[in-house]
Amino acid sequence: MTAVLETAGLGKRYRSTWALRDCDLSLPSGRVIALVGPNGAGKTTLLRLATGLLEPTIGTIAIFGEPATADSPEALGQVGFVAQEHPLYKSFRVRELLRMGQALNRLWDQDLAERRLAELDIPLDRRAGQLSGGQQAQVALALALAKRPRLLVLDEPVASLDPLARREFMQTLMTAVAEEDITVLFSSHNVAELERVCDCLIVITGGRIQLAGDIDALLAEHRLLTGPSNRMVSGPGVIHVTSGDRHANVVVRTGQGTVMPGWESHPIGLEELVLAYLRLAKADHGTPRRDNAKAVRT
Ligand code: ATP
Repeated sequence: MTAVLETAGLGKRYRSTWALRDCDLSLPSGRVIALVGPNGAGKTTLLRLATGLLEPTIGTIAIFGEPATADSPEALGQVGFVAQEHPLYKSFRVRELLRMGQALNRLWDQDLAERRLAELDIPLDRRAGQLSGGQQAQVALALALAKRPRLLVLDEPVASLDPLARREFMQTLMTAVAEEDITVLFSSHNVAELERVCDCLIVITGGRIQLAGDIDALLAEHRLLTGPSNRMVSGPGVIHVTSGDRHANVVVRTGQGTVMPGWESHPIGLEELVLAYLRLAKADHGTPRRDNAKAVRT
């Protein structure tokens, strides 16, 4: 089956800075995939490459088997994008934004857009600039969904929203995923929220993929070990060690070592897992461990 998005040796350099390097991913369809990483990790760069807004410096990126470049309108026509600040023409009325979307997109679903906005009580005759931040985000999402994309890419879509607006936005997104055959790739700093909505995870730091895969499989592959803090713990499966006065917590990738006497093994939560890889990358200055940076496949 053709991957929704496939990259091979993908890299993007701005002058002397590599924003993204050695990126090999294969995203399965029908999934909600979270892209997590600290500021400057390369998330926006990867998402903009996926939407054809940036050209790779090196390597390839394909959407549904076609290169994701500006000269592949067929492939890019299947991608919806909600950018970080939900840029809308502020002086346009919502109705005019919909009309513009209709004129620009072959598969435009006007009924769908109007229905979504009516459900959210967003008046079509209001100018975009007069809407609240949460409403603007919802309009941006409605415009992206009305394009009937097979892949929807969102760059930190809820970062600027209050908790209620954030919840409503994610609700709208999840309803769309449930109703339509759509793959969602979105970046976020809110790990707690990801647990509710995502089934795949990509952790990126320093422009490199640190971890990628199905969340349930990744959680099953990792364990949190607790034991005495007076022993050195290291090895290829050790992702991160936190030492207190009496106890140490060690995140390990299972299958790469046995539990020593005096240690307990516990399941790991998503937040602990993500933090372990972020800290690992910090300690390694962003260098990925090749065994962790596998493609997302099902
Ligand atoms: P954030 O969470 O802060 O949005 P990010 O993970 O999306 O960060 P990117 O915006 O992709 O990170 O940036 C990755 C790296 O590339 C950073 O070092 C950034 O400074 C650099 N970068 C991004 N865009 C440009 C540009 N247009 N020119 C030069 N450097 C850039």
